[in-house]
Amino acid sequence: MNILLVYPTYPDTFWSFKYALKFISKKASLPPLGLLTVSAMLPAAWKRKLIDMNVEKLKDKDILWADYVFISGMSIQKESAKSVISRCASLGVPVIAGGPMFTAGHEEFEEVAYFVLNEAEITLPQFLDDLEKGQPKRVYTTDLWADITKTPVPDWDLLKMNKYASMNIQYSRGCPFDCEFCNITVLYGRRPRTKDKEQLLAELESLHARGWKGGIFLVDDNFIGNKAKLKNETLPAVTEWMKSRKYPFPLFSEVSINLADDEELMSMMARAGFDTVFVGIESPHEESLVECSKFQNKNRDLTACVQKIQQFGMEVQGGFIVGFDSDPASIFDRLVAFIQESGIVTAMVGLLNAPPGTKLYQRMLQENRLLRATTGDNTDFSINFIPKMDHDALLEGYRRIVKTIYSPKQHYARIKQFLKNYQPAQERVFHMQFSHLKAAVKSVYRLGIFGRERFYYWRLFFWSLFRKPRLLPLAITLSIYGHHFRRIFRQHELFLQ
Ligand code: SF4
Repeated sequence: MNILLVYPTYPDTFWSFKYALKFISKKASLPPLGLLTVSAMLPAAWKRKLIDMNVEKLKDKDILWADYVFISGMSIQKESAKSVISRCASLGVPVIAGGPMFTAGHEEFEEVAYFVLNEAEITLPQFLDDLEKGQPKRVYTTDLWADITKTPVPDWDLLKMNKYASMNIQYSRGCPFDCEFCNITVLYGRRPRTKDKEQLLAELESLHARGWKGGIFLVDDNFIGNKAKLKNETLPAVTEWMKSRKYPFPLFSEVSINLADDEELMSMMARAGFDTVFVGIESPHEESLVECSKFQNKNRDLTACVQKIQQFGMEVQGGFIVGFDSDPASIFDRLVAFIQESGIVTAMVGLLNAPPGTKLYQRMLQENRLLRATTGDNTDFSINFIPKMDHDALLEGYRRIVKTIYSPKQHYARIKQFLKNYQPAQERVFHMQFSHLKAAVKSVYRLGIFGRERFYYWRLFFWSLFRKPRLLPLAITLSIYGHHFRRIFRQHELFLQ
């Protein structure tokens, strides 16, 4: 059996880092972890090939080679996924689809032969069994949660690793919280399920053995969902593994803000090699946090929490949302002030949207406010429901936020604010690679000589060189991120005009 695994293209977005990747000559930020994991679950005798359309072209001859094409993706990849499915249908090759986008709504993909939905650890073996018997059903689904301690190590051998900026590993699924706009608990449940430490180490080892030298993103939606297991088993094991290999890669993940309440956990994460965490902060406005059930962010000094995590050695990237029913007209200025003060350099501000399956979607449906499906990109100036605030005022306020925070003046001021506060862990080792040197040279040329921000670039460069020399590579990386964010939002704005 020949199996082709296809990952559709995603558009240029905040998280695509397209314009930053050019500095390090990479094609994509992260590989398609879901497809690589599914591949590892297929019968060993089957031949497999992966085409990630974000790093290479899908050719007809690849499709014709296959007996089946497996496709996965998120809603942001819908357009590309639909065109791949049509191409396969016209070439007579059946498509098997799974992953978050198809699980959230498979009905609109009429040309797909089989759907293997929800968690593949449960539905894929059922499909493979029926396929062997010659009686496959069209749709496989389950409302059970898989035991992820049985999930195999992803099939890294299918990957052209040098095309990616980072690798990814999944340690846990599920989140104990229940934010109204979030579909994570719908897809993965509220009880965090974690892999065993042996599994996690095996995944780290498999990347190390293949010579991987970049960062590793633990793609869990909330890495600290089960703190006791992290402290007692997982982090001590990862720390020992990292130490014995001289910290070969920096780690980053996503966490909830209550990380700031646990100094022991923060220290342990920093010692294990974590240098960045993404936190969903959403809003500095308490009523908006209550409205979306983000209770873990309520009644706390969010700026102090962010700065505390940074002082424990982890850069905080933040997610923010405007468009809540409770948002006052002053929210835009308050959010800008909060982001600047807390020194969150990578601040993703999006418009509230209601993805299918979420409580917010249900509420919008009941209140007759739902307009359309989400685009999957909450930074593209689209909203899929009727907001309480005047629509034009909301868009104008949103535009003002992104224009302000990504202007060179504010962006570079935030980098400096962050670097002043940031205390990298002693264990942090920076492994200089040729691509870093290339990125530094390109940044001098593109930002320092020809960029409109050249004054801010050099000011930060020399400040960092003399005051925080160890953090100069980070200062350059964050300057490059700013260039990407400005390009993305300019692109969206031009599209709107
Ligand atoms: S904390 Fe994050 S992952 Fe968990 S439900 Fe809220 S938004 Fe979703």
